[in-house]
Amino acid sequence: MNDVFILSFTKEEEMLNRLKCNACHKLIKYKDFVYLDMLNSVIHQRCYTPIFDVKDKGIFQEVMKKYPLFEEW
Ligand SMILES: [Zn+2]
Repeated sequence: MNDVFILSFTKEEEMLNRLKCNACHKLIKYKDFVYLDMLNSVIHQRCYTPIFDVKDKGIFQEVMKKYPLFEEW
């Protein structure tokens, strides 16, 4: 059963298990509201008040789709 569970993991899910908020260092989840900053760091909106311009913001799942850089992971 354990093997089936691992095989059912998509690439996106694998990536999600690695991507952590740059502020609180907790894992980012699909439905979290995030900022993407100029260094392509992903930060929870609740953890961060932008001082500089952010590149994008929104639900992480949507931000992830927009930027091909995440696909390389
Ligand atoms: Zn955070």
